[in-house]
Amino acid sequence: MARVLLHICCGPCAIAPVRRLQEEGFEVTGFFWNPNIHPLQEYIRRRQSAAEMAEQLGISIIFKDSEYDPKLWFRAVSYREENRCFHCYALRLERALSIAKRGKFDYFSTSILYSRKQKHDVVRQLGEDMALDGPVQFLYRDFREGWEEGIETSKEWGMYRQQYCGCLYSETERYARELRDLGKK
Ligand code: SF4
Repeated sequence: MARVLLHICCGPCAIAPVRRLQEEGFEVTGFFWNPNIHPLQEYIRRRQSAAEMAEQLGISIIFKDSEYDPKLWFRAVSYREENRCFHCYALRLERALSIAKRGKFDYFSTSILYSRKQKHDVVRQLGEDMALDGPVQFLYRDFREGWEEGIETSKEWGMYRQQYCGCLYSETERYARELRDLGKK
């Protein structure tokens, strides 16, 4: 059975990808490594949702909590904030690939490919470019097909569902209206 290391950004986003890969006959191992999630308490909530997903779907997850360091992420995007998502994807995919190589996985992939809100084609291109030298291949699937399934199942399971993408910039964008409205009072 071919082995896939699936980078996981959070539990809800991983439900449909894990199910699909299991249906295709892959042995799936999760990998939770996300220095882009701020602040730490948000990281802990999403880590918990990833653990719940893994228990429900019967997969194991590699957690690298000792490596959680937002500085890594801020250094990767500093002075290129306008293009920060590209560098954020690259950072996480590179780490996933290094773990996949060390663990002699056949493939690596990411649950970021599930989200309709992410730059899907950029993620795909990055993964494929990184895998050019082998031996681990990037496993591309359009996991967005399972968008509704992931939402419905995560609600059914009572999982934590985040309100913003992850970084402080995305949190600010998410709640910018509240700040603007304050100025109107
Ligand atoms: S918006 Fe999301 S993908 Fe983009 S840099 Fe922030 S955490 Fe990363």
